[in-house]
Amino acid sequence: MMLDYNSLLLALGVSATCLAVTLMGSWLVRRAETFLLTGAFGLVLVVAGIFAYAFYVEQPERMLGAGSFVLFHAGFATIWGAGYQFRTGRLPISGIVVRALVAMAISIPPMIAGLDGLAFMADNLAIAFLLFTTARQYWLDRAEAPAPISGITALYTLTAVSFVLCAAVLIWDGKLVLGAAPSNWAEDLSIAVCIAGMTGIGALSLALHQWRLAARHRIDAITDPLTGLLNRRALFDQYGVRAMGVSTAVVVFDIDHFKSVNDRYGHAAGDHVLKVFAGELSANCRSGDTAARLGGEEFALVLKEIMPGRAELAAERIRKAFEERDIYIDDEVLKCTVSVGVAPGRSKPLDFDAMLGEADKALYVAKRAGRNRVELASHLHSVPSEDARSAS
Ligand code: GH3
Ligand code: MG
Ligand code: MG
Repeated sequence: MMLDYNSLLLALGVSATCLAVTLMGSWLVRRAETFLLTGAFGLVLVVAGIFAYAFYVEQPERMLGAGSFVLFHAGFATIWGAGYQFRTGRLPISGIVVRALVAMAISIPPMIAGLDGLAFMADNLAIAFLLFTTARQYWLDRAEAPAPISGITALYTLTAVSFVLCAAVLIWDGKLVLGAAPSNWAEDLSIAVCIAGMTGIGALSLALHQWRLAARHRIDAITDPLTGLLNRRALFDQYGVRAMGVSTAVVVFDIDHFKSVNDRYGHAAGDHVLKVFAGELSANCRSGDTAARLGGEEFALVLKEIMPGRAELAAERIRKAFEERDIYIDDEVLKCTVSVGVAPGRSKPLDFDAMLGEADKALYVAKRAGRNRVELASHLHSVPSEDARSAS
């Protein structure tokens, strides 16, 4: 072998330390992603285990061996916890503790009893198990980012297999007492796999972190933060240049006398009313429909595959539901209403912008006619033209 075993251990310790520092640094950039912090913490424990084990290699004392087991098992259980947290967003503290304690319970007693051969068989199997279950956590979430997650899964699996080989060689030899740290081809292979695996997993974890940040930013860019509905830009991105035919209707809503809600109850109460209305809007959406906040207290709904005459019924249902809604502000019950303009689908297609303009005109009529009502855009055109025809 070119390098002695302890030099390789040192290399592993240094690369693991670098990785822990990098993960912690990335976590500092966006603290919501605590799986990176959990992973870094697990690595720190593993690094401490590697150094304890390096001492054990020099001087195989039982307590040193047991100490390295404690650190390794706590560390790998925590790394499993980071995988679980990545997938679910929750830190499974009891799951980590149980896994670490079970791994310690099967490896430390034989070590203390002087059966170090048996202890290392159990130690390698326990670490392999923890790494397999870590690989599984990422695998379950592979749909989120298939390329980096498949890579992470493969590397954890490969590392786990290298520990299985270590255990297999020890079991094959069948020595329950070794009197020294195990030294065989599987150990050499495993340490090389660990160095490569750790580097790869580190790089891919950072890639995954970036992937999540980018996805988060994409969602933020199209979402209205107050109501969670799509924002104006997203609505225009979706429908901006598309001509709308007979089966698509555009509805705009504007809350009545909203300024006086703000003036009387405060801005926070106004915000609450906006959220309540957004909830009412979403609750009345079918799956193909799009609800968005255009800005201020104005909202839009795009209804697709809608039968003639249905858009105004949907609008009326929302208007009525909002009117009947009790809105609680501190101890008071507030009632609010909304005015609605509907641009129904038409046989001569119009683009989205024009449809929105039609709906806006109808909304203006609804406001002028006393608010808390639905007006249909087609009436604005058809009624005067009929009048004109009958007059001539
Ligand atoms: P109308 O019945 O004619 O629609 O009267 P209005 O008071 O609802 O209409 P106006 O456009 O005069 O008032 C809109 C108000 O909405 C003005 C603005 O302070 C308030 N507003 C806009 N955005 C927000 C917001 O995000 N939160 C709150 N609380 N108020 C907002
Ligand atoms: Mg307004
Ligand atoms: Mg208003």
